[in-house]
Amino acid sequence: MKVSIDQSKCIACGTCVAVCPEVFVMKEDGSVDVKDEYKDKDIPSELESKVIEAKEVCPTAAIVTKE
Ligand code: SF4
Repeated sequence: MKVSIDQSKCIACGTCVAVCPEVFVMKEDGSVDVKDEYKDKDIPSELESKVIEAKEVCPTAAIVTKE
């Protein structure tokens, strides 16, 4: 599973970072993104459930996953 953030929807609330700090990061400019190490890469299977949880709680549905 791969994950990305639609920056046109993200409001940088930080919820996904709180739920899954292994994958999501708040950057110095205040924006939130997928960590470079997981961009366009398969998420380790042990982290998939946390990524899905983050997707479910994102208030703007900005988190996009694909198999
Ligand atoms: S939870 Fe959604 S809106 Fe909030 S920082 Fe993460 S991607 Fe952006």
